[in-house]
This record gives sequence, structure tokens and C-alpha cells, in this order.
Amino acid sequence: MAVSVTDRFLRYVVIDTQSDASSKTQPSTEKQKNLGRLLVDELLSIGVSDAHLDEHGYVYGTIPSNTPKNSVPVICICAHMDTAPDFSGTNVKPQIVRNYQGGDIRLPADSSRVIRVADHPVLKDMIGHDIITSDGTTLLGADDKAGIAEIVAAAEFLINNPDIKHGTLRILFTTDEEIGRGVDKVDLKKLGADFGYTMDGGAAGSIEDETFSADAVDIAITGVAIHPGQAYGRMENAIRIAGDIIARLPRDMAPETTKGRDGFIHPTGLLGVMEKANLSFIIRDFTEEGLKTKEALLEKITRDVMENYQGSSYTFTVKEQYRNMKEVLDRHPEIVEHAVEAIKRAGMEPRRDSIRGGTDGSRLSFMGLPCANIFAGGHAFHSPLEFVSSQDMDKAVKTIVELAKVWEERA
Ligand SMILES: [Zn+2]
Repeated sequence: MAVSVTDRFLRYVVIDTQSDASSKTQPSTEKQKNLGRLLVDELLSIGVSDAHLDEHGYVYGTIPSNTPKNSVPVICICAHMDTAPDFSGTNVKPQIVRNYQGGDIRLPADSSRVIRVADHPVLKDMIGHDIITSDGTTLLGADDKAGIAEIVAAAEFLINNPDIKHGTLRILFTTDEEIGRGVDKVDLKKLGADFGYTMDGGAAGSIEDETFSADAVDIAITGVAIHPGQAYGRMENAIRIAGDIIARLPRDMAPETTKGRDGFIHPTGLLGVMEKANLSFIIRDFTEEGLKTKEALLEKITRDVMENYQGSSYTFTVKEQYRNMKEVLDRHPEIVEHAVEAIKRAGMEPRRDSIRGGTDGSRLSFMGLPCANIFAGGHAFHSPLEFVSSQDMDKAVKTIVELAKVWEERA
């Protein structure tokens, strides 16, 4: 008797796997391996005989090909085990609203936490579903334990139904995705996959082949420090210089004033004393050109401000973070086409989206494993209002199974 995707999911979310950006270790938190070990046991018990946890905390496993065709590409299906540092993932107590009949959902342990239909109109598509939430004091962890449960459930289904023909499928569970280090130590050679999918998207039916391109900018300002009593005409306070730069940033180019396909310049850190200050920014856009234009604008603002402080100096450092995976995926259109077909066969209307962020898949794509992102079904990620429906997770399992079939048929 197969374990339902929901039962697996409920088992995974109670294990705290929060990652920690300030940690220098890999994985960033040792506790992520607790889930990794459980997943290896579960994979072994359903027949994924090479499942193992490596020294970096990643879980690898293989579902061998069962088709006589030898031209079927090796497909990697990937999800991340960690949860976001933004909100507590300790002592998660999942709640199930069975046969949801509409209306707002008030979370039991904190009555100020309400999942409102007005904020989450997708609830209107979930009448009759079983909706899983946290109790309001933690996040749920559907991002991305829904993806993990779906992959394990799909693996079990494929192994138990050998009449379904498919090529080699590689399972990969990563750590530390939420802090941008998800694929730092992935062994692509060992993985040996041609193409991949992350199961880390939102609403049922969505497929994403586009992410932001992302850079970080660091501006280090050196001012002129002097005793305030003798400062007249001489002091150049680095804190004021930093303030002047921030004040000149265009208001319509911020995360809070942009959506859709518009990018932004976003100050994320400010450290300063009179003699020196440090400004950190993240820059986001869907095109390389848009990214460069925004960086040039930020540098011009800095230069213009510095004109007024002739004794002071600055350095302007750009650091590449990740790139829009569409550039890579456009060279292999079958990755998205096959996913669209699988979503249709699983009974949904496919929806193409772009991600205002990055995924493990965007980095994998540039490391040589072209990787699109398929829905896992969760909503309100990184917050205590996070929720996912059992029925949507079932649809994701079906999508993975159909995807394996489509790749085999079309090889
Ligand atoms: Zn995620």
C-alpha cells in the first residue's frame, strides 16, 4: 500500500531544516541532515537502491530506466530540504482543513494570523480540497517539502508500476537553497543528468522557465573625519554621503514599486560611522542589459553625490549572483514543452510564469544542467500563512509521472 503524498509531507514538515546565511559550513545547519537521513531511508524502502546522503548533506538516488530505448535523456528531478530563515521552522504543527468550503482560514495558535481569500484568491479554486497550514506560530515548509514529498511519491508510483516506461530518472534533494548556496557542492558528474526540473514553484499548473538576473553591489565610502568643533568647511561625514546616495535612488525602481517584468535597485544594508560607510545593494532585472543599465545609474548617482565631497573617495564593486535561466532553456525548448504536455495530461491548464527571484534551477542551468521549475503547489512562502492543498500535491505527483512518460515517448 503506497504512502500518500500528504502523509509523507506531514512527516517532513515537523523536522526543522531552517538554513542559516551567517553559517560558513555546508550544510549551513547540521539539522538539515536529519531530514536527509529520513529521506534516504524512505527512498531505500520504496526501492531506490542507491539512495544516499553525501558529506555535504545532499540526497542522491536513481530510478533506473525500464525502456528498451537507449536514446531517452537522463532527467533530474530536484527539490530543496531547507526552509527560509525569514520565519521560524521550529516545532511546526501542521493543521488540515478538510473539505474546505470557502472563506478565510484563521490559524489556531495565533488568532491574528488569517489566510484571507482577498489576499489569496487562489483559495477560490480549492473548494473541496484538504488544505494544510501551520498553526500560525511557524512557517509550514511547503517550500519546498511539498516538492520533496511529490518526488518521493512519484518515485514510489513509478517503481510499483513497471508497465510505465521511462528513461533514467535521477533524484536530487539539496540543502541551503534559501540562502543561495543550494547547488554549491552538487556533483554534476555523479548526477549524470542531461536535463532537470526543480519542483519548487507555486500554484498548480505553473511552469517557470525564467528567473531574475541578479548582481550585488557594494559601495565603500571613505569620508573626512575631524573633531566636530573644528569641522567647519572640512568634515565630510560618510554617513551623510551614504544618506545622499540613498535619497537619490529612483522611487519607481524599488521592490515595493515594481512588479511583473520590471527590475529594481534595492538597498539591503547600511553600516556607517563618520569616517567610513558601507552600502549594500541587490540589483535585479530579467535582462543583462537592464541589469547593466541599473548598475550604471547607481554608479552615476554615487559619482554625482561624491562631487560634493571632494576630500572623500569610494569604491564600487559589482558581484554576479545568478543569471536568468531562460537564456539556457531557450536552447532546449523540449524541456518546457514536455513539462507543458505533462501538466495537461495531469488535468491542468499549464501556465507559464517568470520568477521574481532565483532558484537552484537557475544556477544549475548555467552550471551545465538546464533546469526549469515546476509547481509544487504551495502558497504564501516564507510566512506563517503558508499553505498547500493535498489535491494540488497529488497533481504534482501525476505531473512528474506524466513527464517521465513524455520524455520516453518522444525520445
Ligand atoms: Zn523553494
